[in-house]
Amino acid sequence: MKDFYDVVVVGGGNAALSAALSARENGASTAVIECAPLEERGGNSSYTAGAFRIAYDGVSDLKALMPELSDQEWEGYDFGAYPARELFDDIATTTQYRTDPALADILARESHAALMWLKSKGLRLLPYGRQSAKVGNKRKWFGGLVIEALGGGIGLTDFEFQAAEKAGVEVFYRTFARDLIKGDGGVRGVVVERDASRQDLRAGAVVLACGGFEANTEWRARYLGPGWDLAKVRGCRYNQGAGIRMAIDAGAQSTGNWSGCHAISWDRNAPPYGERTIGELFSKHGYPFGIVVNAEGKRFIDEGADFYLYTYAKNGRAVLAQPGQFAWQLFDAQVRHLIHDEYRIKQATRVTADSIEELIQKIEDVDKTQLARTIREYNAAVMRDRKFDPTVKDGLGTRGIEIPKSNWALPLEVPPFEAFAVTCGITFTYGGIKINADANVVDIDDRPIPGLYAAGEMVGGIFYFNYPGGSGLTSGAVFGRRAGRDAARFAAQRRTS
Ligand SMILES: Cc1cc2nc3c(=O)[nH]c(=O)nc-3n(C[C@H](O)[C@H](O)[C@H](O)COP(=O)(O)OP(=O)(O)OC[C@H]3O[C@@H](n4cnc5c(N)ncnc54)[C@H](O)[C@@H]3O)c2cc1C
Repeated sequence: MKDFYDVVVVGGGNAALSAALSARENGASTAVIECAPLEERGGNSSYTAGAFRIAYDGVSDLKALMPELSDQEWEGYDFGAYPARELFDDIATTTQYRTDPALADILARESHAALMWLKSKGLRLLPYGRQSAKVGNKRKWFGGLVIEALGGGIGLTDFEFQAAEKAGVEVFYRTFARDLIKGDGGVRGVVVERDASRQDLRAGAVVLACGGFEANTEWRARYLGPGWDLAKVRGCRYNQGAGIRMAIDAGAQSTGNWSGCHAISWDRNAPPYGERTIGELFSKHGYPFGIVVNAEGKRFIDEGADFYLYTYAKNGRAVLAQPGQFAWQLFDAQVRHLIHDEYRIKQATRVTADSIEELIQKIEDVDKTQLARTIREYNAAVMRDRKFDPTVKDGLGTRGIEIPKSNWALPLEVPPFEAFAVTCGITFTYGGIKINADANVVDIDDRPIPGLYAAGEMVGGIFYFNYPGGSGLTSGAVFGRRAGRDAARFAAQRRTS
């Protein structure tokens, strides 16, 4: 490791690698500091499905991203359109209009360009299969998420590391950023620790892209609130909030939803942190097609409020709030084809039965008398006069029960029946530090801190309460790219001044 680089990027996920690629492209000597060992590199980004939410005006925008698909394949697909205005609106509504509109606007408008840019470096993309269904002779997509990286999160991050190294970025594993070096005129580098020895790594500019604080049990309880210490971590163990703390110590403004996070329904018996071989398959996103009950045998959410991509990120909180922090998802054979691979892994906590009575007996830790009543009342409340259609919000709901189900409400009556036990799995935290449009970190007076940039999960102010699925990787690519570009320019100016 040299003792100076134009740009030092802290982190080894999608946001960091996007920043490093961009800094290098803009002429900066660039180092990436990743605290994980090589075999665990890539942060939460490597655990993802690699799904990017991007705006597109029509099929030609998607053809530009996936030129490998044949004409025959395109003819069989119906992607519709998802203009930037709709992506912006989805961020605005899921965040209850608290999102920083300037940042959300950049995210939406630059989403397609950011993917075209990654593609120009060699990233292979393909259609995201999970939110599509056969309608007539075409496969139709719904919910605004249509594209994923080849090989999922590992494919994405392996590609990004290879592209960065090919471009001349130097990558250092098992190297922790411990502090920022502050001097006249802003941030001047990072104190790094490797093999228990510390070194001052000086830089023209620093990009922090080292995640939120979801893996820090103490911070979860402190900021998200009681009970959050009990959540399982879906991704890597390294996102401890170190980057956020370093930035705040250097004068950064904290912002956003510090008591909020992305958290989902996750297998009840999943390990405490993510497992790279399983990746995101502990997720259980099929609940819009079934019902969810708690230990008291009662339903507690409107399972069909919207497509899962607009509700899953807040469901973990609802499950965590239940007695014992768990729930069971129940399905019958009518919807079996609609619940994904994640329900078929051998590690899934599952019971199956040929009758409802048998299923109830097999479901552990639940009030069985109440559960039987809940299923009876739910089945009786289903509006049987409407048509089931998983590709639209079909309005097939319930009538006359306390917690309604608004769409896709089929009665549980066709054997075999299945139930899956879930708990809360935390994905990432929403609170962080404030950046401006150049991804430059700002202080309490909204003045840019010279030489300090940030991107990815650790940026606050974009997501609140909830989240449109697939926006995290897009945010990292868009703001990582901006951060790297501006950090390189700033470092060049510093060199000559
Ligand atoms: C199971 C799962 C599935 C998901 N699926 C999707 C999906 O399909 N689409 C989507 O958009 N989002 C998805 N997400 C969310 C997505 O992972 C995040 O939004 C995104 O990856 C964040 O990228 P990042 O680069 O900011 O953070 P990360 O990818 O987590 O990278 C942070 C990096 O910082 C490093 N680091 C931390 N502290 C230090 C330190 N002190 N010094 C040096 N390095 C440090 C870590 O080792 C890591 O490499 C998923 C998340 C999980 C957990």
